[in-house]
Amino acid sequence: MNQDTIDITARTLRQWALPEPSFDDDKEGRGHILIVGGAKEMPGAVMLAATAALRAGAGKLTIATAASIAPLVAMAIPESRVIGLAETAGGGFTLAAARELGDLAGKASALLVGPGMQDDAATAELVHALLPRFAGTPVVLDAAAMGAVKSQGEPHLLDETKDMKHFRFAEPVLLTPHAGELSYLTGRDKKDIAAAPEEAAREAAQRWNAIVALKGATTVIAAPDGRQWQHQGGNVGLAISGSGDALAGIIAGLVARGAALEQAAAWGVALHASAGEQLSIRYGVLGYLAREISAEVPALLRTLA
Ligand code: AMP
Ligand code: MG
Repeated sequence: MNQDTIDITARTLRQWALPEPSFDDDKEGRGHILIVGGAKEMPGAVMLAATAALRAGAGKLTIATAASIAPLVAMAIPESRVIGLAETAGGGFTLAAARELGDLAGKASALLVGPGMQDDAATAELVHALLPRFAGTPVVLDAAAMGAVKSQGEPHLLDETKDMKHFRFAEPVLLTPHAGELSYLTGRDKKDIAAAPEEAAREAAQRWNAIVALKGATTVIAAPDGRQWQHQGGNVGLAISGSGDALAGIIAGLVARGAALEQAAAWGVALHASAGEQLSIRYGVLGYLAREISAEVPALLRTLA
């Protein structure tokens, strides 16, 4: 283990206190989360992320999702405002979404893109179009939205000082890949990443100018300035469909409340793992559902704070 890697424990978190609302705060004070995701074939991911963001304490929620499922999502999450976006054939959104959502820049306090999105090329293009519009807003990219690092984007985002041209974010965003996704994004073998996750996360963070939370039974969080954390916990029952969507939502909800990206990642990973531990006591290690994760979060926030 890299000796500079900080273990995320209850003590670490207590010393890294989340922003708390004052007693007379209104919902704006706890932040407005905008979640872009979902597709006709996968409407659930964005719902899982949205519920998790609210359970993490975000004050206001807007979901931008495929027009064909927008009414269904609105019914499922009555707390949300839902914007229906024009779809590509592959289950992504057309670039018109960038203009439409750009109107929310300055109003949203955090942006999460990716849960449930299907069309890799269209999604990467949309992320490239959204980032400049949301400059100054903290951004979390999950699932297909992380594919933005594979395409080149705007010329000013390219780092030509190194031996190879590669994508760099203009300001750090948070990426939440598992080893398989990091392998796809970097071209490195998944086995090599699993064998040396700290090194893989650090390299990716520096290369892309991103905070990288490399998920697994042990999750490593690396910042581009070299700071690094790790968390071990949860159980194999968390390896289920929708689990990562719940995690992305928890993290984005904490960011909307005012937590820094790396702080929200550390807290989110710990909350998600602890939720798995609570659920395994009730149901056993196997058989609990991703949709049950977020309901554990408020009580855990009280315990960990
Ligand atoms: P995803 O693959 O995007 O759905 O994310 C899966 C989530 O479950 C991540 O937060 C992982 O860290 C977590 N997870 C997966 N497998 C395990 C495991 N064996 N033990 C603990 N957590 C896990
Ligand atoms: Mg995932």
